[in-house]
Amino acid sequence: MSDFTRNHAVVVGAGMAGLTAAQAISRHFRKVTVIERDVLPAEPAPRSGTPQAQHAHMLLAGGLRALQTLFPGFEKDLAEAGAVKIRAGKDLRFERPGFDPFPVRDLGFDIFSMSRPLLEAVTRRRVQKTPNIGICARCRVTKLVASRDATRIEAVRYDSEDGRAVTLEAELVVEASGRGGLTLQLLEELSLQKPEETEIGIDQAYASAIVERLDHNADWLGNIMLPSAPGSSRGAFLFPIEKQRWLLSIGGNHGDTPPGDRAGFMDFVRSLRTPTIYDAVRDARPLTDIVRYQLPCSTRRHFERLESFPAGLLATGDALCRFNPVFGQGMSVAAQEAVILDRLLTEDVPKERLAREFFAAIQDTIATPWGVAVNDFVYPATRGARPADLAQRLQYGMALTKLAAQDPEVHRLTVEVSQLLKPQAALREPALAARVMSLI
Ligand SMILES: Cc1cc2nc3c(=O)[nH]c(=O)nc-3n(C[C@H](O)[C@H](O)[C@H](O)COP(=O)(O)OP(=O)(O)OC[C@H]3O[C@@H](n4cnc5c(N)ncnc54)[C@H](O)[C@@H]3O)c2cc1C
Repeated sequence: MSDFTRNHAVVVGAGMAGLTAAQAISRHFRKVTVIERDVLPAEPAPRSGTPQAQHAHMLLAGGLRALQTLFPGFEKDLAEAGAVKIRAGKDLRFERPGFDPFPVRDLGFDIFSMSRPLLEAVTRRRVQKTPNIGICARCRVTKLVASRDATRIEAVRYDSEDGRAVTLEAELVVEASGRGGLTLQLLEELSLQKPEETEIGIDQAYASAIVERLDHNADWLGNIMLPSAPGSSRGAFLFPIEKQRWLLSIGGNHGDTPPGDRAGFMDFVRSLRTPTIYDAVRDARPLTDIVRYQLPCSTRRHFERLESFPAGLLATGDALCRFNPVFGQGMSVAAQEAVILDRLLTEDVPKERLAREFFAAIQDTIATPWGVAVNDFVYPATRGARPADLAQRLQYGMALTKLAAQDPEVHRLTVEVSQLLKPQAALREPALAARVMSLI
């Protein structure tokens, strides 16, 4: 039996990681309080705590599956809220160097495309319907409080809406603040070691706008245009979202920053490797201003390597690992982490071991998306520990892409891996590896 009394847990942050973690914990604790610094809008709308949410956010099939596990009927909720159903391999045109477009095939499963505020609103509504979860909005957590002997977490301190400083006791605290600063601050206060960090410096820049989705007489609903790396890092996502709109995000890295004025933005779109997106949107009415975002690096915090960590404290989502957004993984990984937390709580893992087991158990989940990030080293300016076998890895990836274009089964497998339905190791199975190597 675990030594948890399972009375009260606190989750810091009501982003995708916080909402999914709260739902997972609610099955095992009498009460869960989610503390969020922002005003939470009743309808899908941008908010200041998640500025990235105005940019294209793809929910991968692995993330959708995790959300469906936590919130049965989630796909139906998304569809009813206006999310656009996408048949994988078919409805999103995929342009990559040498394949403009990549062969179109029905890969046998659906995903959904929508704005991040819509996805978050649908998730939040489900959480709000869970009777033992309360959301405290406009409350900012200022500190995590540990026991006198520094071995376990006891409470969080937050500034409430009316400016009062409140201490709230909790047996389990999950930091899903997107930053992880509270956990690092606590470790410092307790003179405990902080997690080592692996960084991949990419200087990724985005600019995005929503435009009306015209009836463009094409057999696709959206388009993904990958750059011809390493010569250029300019890429684009044109995603169909709710209310017959497109969300267009363009980007580059290492200083190739898309402009924020309309003329400059459209010039950047026109300069893309293929004309598909420019042709689709040039006559489309802009419905929002252009917003921009810069992310200096992907960061993985190695909590799994720590010798000691306060019992009853966890970090999840971006607070734990922040991925290059172009691969569309962060929200899906966060939801998968929540499913793992649910499993560990079901297994009644003792409080003293929960953090260790959680940080160990999620490593497999992180390994695949982090493995994809290694592709960022294709750019000479990328900072970080360049793998010694980078050239071979990139060659393998190119040959695999060639094979996937020829063979529908390999195509399906590569998409299942990139959609986080299968681990990256599936792409190195001996029989497949032999076929890939024969193309090098
Ligand atoms: C440009 C861009 C594009 C992206 N595209 C994709 C994509 O296509 N697909 C994908 O899956 N991911 C994408 N991501 C990544 C995705 O946004 C993150 O992985 C995801 O939002 C992580 O969720 P989170 O809940 O950990 O953090 P966040 O979404 O950042 O949420 C953290 C929450 O905590 C709150 N908070 C912070 N501090 C406190 C405090 N002290 N007290 C109370 N509340 C606090 C914040 O207000 C916020 O609501 C993209 C990221 C960027 C930057």
